[in-house]
Amino acid sequence: MSPKEIQALRRSLRLDQKELAHQLGVHPLTISQWETGFRSASPLALAALKLLKNFHQRHIPKSSIEKFLLHRFHFLNSKYFNPPLKEKYDILTNTRFKRTHGQCHPRMRKIKISEKLLQTGDWEKLDEPLKHEMLHAWLYEQDKPFGHTQQFKELLYLLQKNHSISSSSNLISQHP
Ligand SMILES: [Zn+2]
Repeated sequence: MSPKEIQALRRSLRLDQKELAHQLGVHPLTISQWETGFRSASPLALAALKLLKNFHQRHIPKSSIEKFLLHRFHFLNSKYFNPPLKEKYDILTNTRFKRTHGQCHPRMRKIKISEKLLQTGDWEKLDEPLKHEMLHAWLYEQDKPFGHTQQFKELLYLLQKNHSISSSSNLISQHP
């Protein structure tokens, strides 16, 4: 960790030099010396700083994220999809997504959500990509084209506005 990174970390923790010194059990002067580069932090102090950083970022284990996603899946499924999705899907997270927020493989019964979205800590934001991917799967289950068709966009718009969609009313007038 460079002097600048140490200072940035302390600020992100909203601690002044004295408070951070107290947490690490070092003299406040030591912190200011690390931050100016006058002195470098010992390996033990660096390890402690990294722990503080991970704790601050609320590093959540993958398994709890996926449990949470599955819980949201069931909630959204019963609330917005009529009839609900009947197949069992694996809801997974993926760290490698760069531009997309999710992916759905309806035939393989897999839905993947970007793990990056979780790092913001705002878990409510996950409903949006989840609705999107569930809609692909839902259309597939209804034997409809399940790509980004005009119909997909219209139905997604309804879901985003928290309207439920139904195969009898929302799909009936469509001629794919
Ligand atoms: Zn899509």
